[in-house]
Amino acid sequence: MRILLSLIIILSTGCASVLTGNYQARTEKVRVANLWIVYASREKINEECIKRGCTKEVKGFYDPLTKTIWCEKTDYHTCGHELRHAFGDNWHR
Ligand SMILES: [Zn+2]
Repeated sequence: MRILLSLIIILSTGCASVLTGNYQARTEKVRVANLWIVYASREKINEECIKRGCTKEVKGFYDPLTKTIWCEKTDYHTCGHELRHAFGDNWHR
């Protein structure tokens, strides 16, 4: 839970500089149950991603089937990015 809260804090501060004019201030409470985060090397992340059908190199990914985020432990940006996918956001599609 502490890691999840840290990621949310990092995510919210990290995204503040890229908010667009379409953003509307609001409060949104999101709960992600049974979420796993696997911290691994970039090599291992890509190895696992290829097993799931990835065709290009990635920094991290979210596997919705196992509700698992794969990212490097010190890559807060990517971990936060994948956390948004765990929330179910389709914000960059
Ligand atoms: Zn993404």
